[in-house]
This record gives sequence, structure tokens and C-alpha cells, in this order.
Amino acid sequence: MKLKLAPGLSIRKSPIEGRGCFSEAHFKGGRKIAEYAGEKIKNAEANRRANRRKLRICAINERWSLDGSRGGNGTHYINHSCAPNAYMKTIYGHVLFFALRDIQPGEEITIDYEDTLHPDSKRCSCGVASCRGTINRV
Ligand SMILES: [Zn+2]
Repeated sequence: MKLKLAPGLSIRKSPIEGRGCFSEAHFKGGRKIAEYAGEKIKNAEANRRANRRKLRICAINERWSLDGSRGGNGTHYINHSCAPNAYMKTIYGHVLFFALRDIQPGEEITIDYEDTLHPDSKRCSCGVASCRGTINRV
């Protein structure tokens, strides 16, 4: 199945983990990068799917989540970093990514996941000097 990527993004091998989401454009600090896309599922179903090896699920609110592995647009490849260049914000049920600072073409787009369906023991491999050691902020 061919992935339909959001404009200005590409998927490549990441130095952090597996494949990552990379910028192909200039995103100015504060600018919207893309919206998270995927299959809309109830959180109970999200928890059932959470034991898959590759987790591509994003919570919208206390009832709903999106599974980017079905119908995603590339934003589900955005890796975690303890020093990210982007952040995620939910606005009226839409999960949006914004640039924290100017992002150049070729940079990997990262966010701080903070709280995920991963176990708290899951180690972080972002590689920045300020890495806190785990994906979840515990
Ligand atoms: Zn880290």
C-alpha cells in the first residue's frame, strides 16, 4: 500500500529508531506542520492494539484515538526526542503538529511523547545530551 504523505514530509531511516518523519521544506517556528491522520478507534481498542511491536497510536481525548498504521499520512512516523523540534496539540478533535522552532529541509521531525501506551520502562534512544532515559515522562 502506498503511503499518502502530508505535503513537505518524507519517510526515511532514522538515527533514533526505525523509520522517521523528515522535513522536505522550511517550517517556520510556530507554523503548523501537518495533521495526524489514521483510523479513529475507541481507547479500549487502542489499548488492545498497544501490545503490537510498532506503536502508531495517538490519543485524541479520553474516549478516542487514531491509529496511524491504517490511513496515516507519515506523521505516525514522527519519533520521540527529549529535545524535540515540534510539538503536538489537539484542537477540536484534530491532532496537529506545530514547529517549535524553524525546521530546515532534511531535519528529522521529533516531538516529546511524554505519555504513551508504551510501558514506563521503555528506554529512549533519542541520543541528545539532555535525554531523560525513558520515552514516558515519569
Ligand atoms: Zn531521550
